[in-house]
Amino acid sequence: MDRIPTQEIIPEDVDSRVFNLYEKKEKIYIRSMEGFFQYIRVYTGWPLLLGYFLAPWLQIEGRQALFFDLSQQQFHIFWLTLWPQDFVLLMWTLAIAAMGLFFVTTLWGRVWCGYTCPQTVWTAIFSWAEQIAEGERHQRIKLDKTPSLFSKGGFNAAGWNKVWRRGLKYCMWFGFAALTGITFIGYFYGIRDLVVDAWQWQLPLTAVAWTVFFTLATFINAGWMREQVCIYMCPYARFQSAMFDKDTLIISYDPARGEQRGSRKKGSDYQAQGLGDCIDCTLCVQVCPTGIDIRNGLQYECIGCARCIDACDSIMDKMAYPKGLISYTTLNKMAGGEWTWKRPKLLGYGVALLVLLGLFSAVLLTRTPLRLDVLRDRGQLYQEVAGGLIENVYTLKVINMTDDDRQYQLHTIGLPNARILPDELISVPARQMHELIIRVQANPDELNSFNTEFDFQLESVTQNAGKNLHTTTESRFFGPQPLTTQR
Ligand code: SF4
Ligand code: SF4
Repeated sequence: MDRIPTQEIIPEDVDSRVFNLYEKKEKIYIRSMEGFFQYIRVYTGWPLLLGYFLAPWLQIEGRQALFFDLSQQQFHIFWLTLWPQDFVLLMWTLAIAAMGLFFVTTLWGRVWCGYTCPQTVWTAIFSWAEQIAEGERHQRIKLDKTPSLFSKGGFNAAGWNKVWRRGLKYCMWFGFAALTGITFIGYFYGIRDLVVDAWQWQLPLTAVAWTVFFTLATFINAGWMREQVCIYMCPYARFQSAMFDKDTLIISYDPARGEQRGSRKKGSDYQAQGLGDCIDCTLCVQVCPTGIDIRNGLQYECIGCARCIDACDSIMDKMAYPKGLISYTTLNKMAGGEWTWKRPKLLGYGVALLVLLGLFSAVLLTRTPLRLDVLRDRGQLYQEVAGGLIENVYTLKVINMTDDDRQYQLHTIGLPNARILPDELISVPARQMHELIIRVQANPDELNSFNTEFDFQLESVTQNAGKNLHTTTESRFFGPQPLTTQR
């Protein structure tokens, strides 16, 4: 079918941009900025970065302190080792993290985005590298306008400046991205093994592939996409407005004080000219990492980084005006009200967070680092053995989640005079699972039913190996129909 030419279906008076589903990305040249809130960002960002890069090198009891060992299905978190059977703890942790984020967002708005989100922290590092390589904002704008080494007019010697500066920037970006990718994989592979295996060219292909993937993802996200991740990709940015209320901390421009904006001479009687405190210098826009103008009101693109506050405060200082034309405030305060913590949303999230923390602590403190899984042999119900006894066969999986080698004694509860064969202690090394087949024999005359419910009890008997542990698991014992119930 022939396509209808676009100009035939768009009326001439309609702006054709209306039909553009994908707007061209406008490059944002962030101007560097110092100030009170930027110092806070530095003092929160560095500990996070150092924590991320150094944590996998920490050793506890001869192993990596933070190690998500997928091959052994064990998550080592300092002194705690979690198994797939502890999945419920992971669910609790995620629920607590989500509720904590809801609570903090209701209280302090997008403080997570502005100060601690990895996308923000990594983008700040990449912007800093860009500034070292290509200079300040105006120098970067000029550099972008410099013709390339080989432009239309032929060879252009001035393009060398662009080439080496770009090259330096990409090298710095790539170096930091590679460090990020290697460290991330180190949490799963073991950072020391990763470095040694990489040095000896013995790294498995999957580890190489994942390291390259995370390196590229960091390079693209923090180097190129930057604010696009916050604006278009991050789900939190989409739903965080649902947690806001009138007393949530936001960053806002005070239009009553700032308008009518306009330039003026320092020291002039600007009020007599009908002007407000905003000198329309646009510094607040130039420092904004998402390229928005906060003077247009609260926008979902605002990540709450407070760069515009520091920028505007520096201008207010220069003009000898009071600071705070752009400031942290709340909608309630802006309307002349007082901040209050007695808000249903805040209290609801706070109570839910406390309940979740309480339940999580209870689950963690009562957790037994020993697990017994029992599977009855489904091949046959039972068999008669010597002495008129009935025998059932079971497969046991004993998981020793402690850091000590242990021996365990197995008992039955609820099965009169039952014998377990082989009648010996079960030895399981530290952080290992041991699978074994056992037989349980019982006298049919002492059974009340052909299908008896009973418990296996496993008890640690190792001396000097910390807390004595025991666990029980339900099972069933099948036998012939007791005479008393036969017709
Ligand atoms: S408007 Fe201000 S606080 Fe919001 S992202 Fe831009 S600079 Fe940061
Ligand atoms: S930095 Fe302050 S004075 Fe300058 S344009 Fe922004 S709000 Fe106005």
